[in-house]
Amino acid sequence: MTFEYAPAPESRSVVSIASRYGLFIDGTFVDSSSGSTFTTINPATEEVLAEVAEAGTDDVERAVQAARRAYTEVWGPMSGRDRAKYLFRIARLIQERSRELAVLETLDNGKPIRESRDVDVPLVAAHFFYHAGWADKLGHAGYGPAPKPIGVAAQVIPWNFPLLMLAWKVAPALACGNTVVLKPAETTPLTALLFAEICQQADLPPGVVNILTGAGETGRALVENPGIDKVAFTGSTEVGKSIMRSLAGTDKRLTLELGGKAANIVFDDAPVDEAVEGVVNGIYFNQGHVCCAGSRLLVQESIADEIVEALKRRLSTLRLGDPLDKNTDIGAINSAEQLSRITALVSSGEAEGAERWSAPCTLPDRGWWFPPTVFTGVTQAHRIAREEIFGPVLSVLTFRTPDEAVEKANNTPYGLSAGIWTEKGSRILWMAERLRAGVIWANTFNRFDPTSPFGGYKESGFGREGGIQGLGAYLTTEVTR
Ligand code: NAP
Ligand code: MG
Repeated sequence: MTFEYAPAPESRSVVSIASRYGLFIDGTFVDSSSGSTFTTINPATEEVLAEVAEAGTDDVERAVQAARRAYTEVWGPMSGRDRAKYLFRIARLIQERSRELAVLETLDNGKPIRESRDVDVPLVAAHFFYHAGWADKLGHAGYGPAPKPIGVAAQVIPWNFPLLMLAWKVAPALACGNTVVLKPAETTPLTALLFAEICQQADLPPGVVNILTGAGETGRALVENPGIDKVAFTGSTEVGKSIMRSLAGTDKRLTLELGGKAANIVFDDAPVDEAVEGVVNGIYFNQGHVCCAGSRLLVQESIADEIVEALKRRLSTLRLGDPLDKNTDIGAINSAEQLSRITALVSSGEAEGAERWSAPCTLPDRGWWFPPTVFTGVTQAHRIAREEIFGPVLSVLTFRTPDEAVEKANNTPYGLSAGIWTEKGSRILWMAERLRAGVIWANTFNRFDPTSPFGGYKESGFGREGGIQGLGAYLTTEVTR
């Protein structure tokens, strides 16, 4: 049964949103040279939150020059011990301002406050603390006795975890002595701009972090700027491929974190209730806007009916609605474009003959929403089994033997993550050896930790973020004799 809850909205007044934001270049907020702007919207209400400057090629050039100056004169030569002090200060400010950051993230992105408050923002602080700890110990990280920074890093991130993706990019870059120019996604610029304020509050030297708001064209101008030394991109495989083509023949270093179509594999000896919770967390967390989401459930045939029934029962109790309400499990879809992508792929699933079930819930009148949805009767040829939906939609497939599970799990152009649910430790190890995925969770899903490297195989990209492995993306590793 579903219990009725009284609404428990988090206060919106803990954060003050300016009506206009400039670009953050060389430690101050400035207008774009063309004067052009765009608006950012709360996807749960369609209300305009703020007007934001749109950076063009000239602004990119200014930011890259500021980052270069800061790199050569201040941040590059600074001792790791001193860099660490700034990073610790930033981490503590993020903790102090966590409520503000969580509310702002929820307003701009549409994700439930429970997730921004309990997952996104604590992980953001953890990433800065973890990398602050590395800043003066890089000579012991396995990259030679005195590894050097690369220089100026151009970083482009998506809208699904706006502040967390910023932290994954900025914290290791700064710890290793690089300076950055970062472009947040067009639909979610606000927490990056609040982070810029935090950099000011921490007295971070001007030019070490620069934030350029804008859309795809701003991202393109940034990665194509000749003054940068490294590109770190998180986003779609399509844009990742185009960046790789545009960097060919240059000596810019590149890491790509792209899409996924992960298998969450449930064996007949798995504890059913725990597995169902893991499957729900795997695909409905953050409305399924998660590159490593467990979007394909592979369930052993003998327990398939039982699992699907338990899953539908559980999904019927999820609460969809106001993202600022602390009871909410499923928030808004981030944009009208993303909602139409989800709707188109769901229609293809129906047209190709899979059976659709959506949780019975009332969708609010304003904003962009999609109910938690499960497809059964899915075959490997269906688009919903092959393409990333990036929404709250699960495709259920079955298998009979571990070999068949491995073959189906690996039958995808992607390779970002996978989940295994079984009581047998030996089976977990056997499966993990054979699955072609960068992260494999056993009897859990969607767990993140700054000490653990994250990244893909195949069309999910290359390079790792987090852990000792992630430092390598921001260091030159020639061993000095
Ligand atoms: P996207 O279109 O690739 O956008 C990602 C970022 O790149 C945005 O900031 C975007 O600007 C910018 N961009 C667009 N075109 C560009 C270009 N030609 N050159 C440089 N930058 C450009 O991806 P999305 O649809 O927003 O995000 C969802 C995708 O990201 C999914 O496929 C998901 O799997 C993937 N993702 C992967 C990870 C991971 O860690 N592997 C994490 C999160 C998301 P706009 O502001 O205009 O969009
Ligand atoms: Mg927005």
